[in-house]
Amino acid sequence: MCSISARQSGRGTSARRDKYRRGNMPMIALLPELNFDDSVFVTASNRFIKAFVATWQRIPADAKNVIMDYLGLRPGRAFLCFAMDLGDLPVEPLGRCSISENEIVFTFLAPYIQHAADPEGVFAVIAHELAHCHNHAMGTWTSNEAEEEQNTRRLAESWGFHPEPVPNPELLAGIERWKVSRKLEFGEHTEKRVFSLS
Ligand SMILES: [Zn+2]
Repeated sequence: MCSISARQSGRGTSARRDKYRRGNMPMIALLPELNFDDSVFVTASNRFIKAFVATWQRIPADAKNVIMDYLGLRPGRAFLCFAMDLGDLPVEPLGRCSISENEIVFTFLAPYIQHAADPEGVFAVIAHELAHCHNHAMGTWTSNEAEEEQNTRRLAESWGFHPEPVPNPELLAGIERWKVSRKLEFGEHTEKRVFSLS
């Protein structure tokens, strides 16, 4: 999933980060220019960090360099979200790469990261979002969503990841049960809220 946003244009990235840091735990660096907020979903965050490291290790070196160079121009932040409620899609995405003029924001569905029994699925979701970033960096990104998704799946597959991980019904049911039981604790930490803090 990939979104383009102009809403954050023209604001200073570092100022936003400082603002975010003041009200929350410090973010940790997944990459030199990609910070991750691990302060809310502790169990899912620990799993995500390990999965990110495993995913990154498997991405070809030239693709890593392309992504790193792009992050150098537009620093990235990553968040886990209680719900992926940005936009109104019929199926809730497992991850999203949102690009604005100044930065890249990666969001991932926390209960999916926490409950996915097959780590390959989590690796594939992370690789998919990094592949969108790679497309932007290479200038191959297209606003045609179907084409962009197809190109991204193909690229992630060429890196050795599953092109399109789809949670099975059991996992989807587990995600919904988790959401019901954790709504009081985590319900406010949605994708929309991540962007409202920006
Ligand atoms: Zn996508």
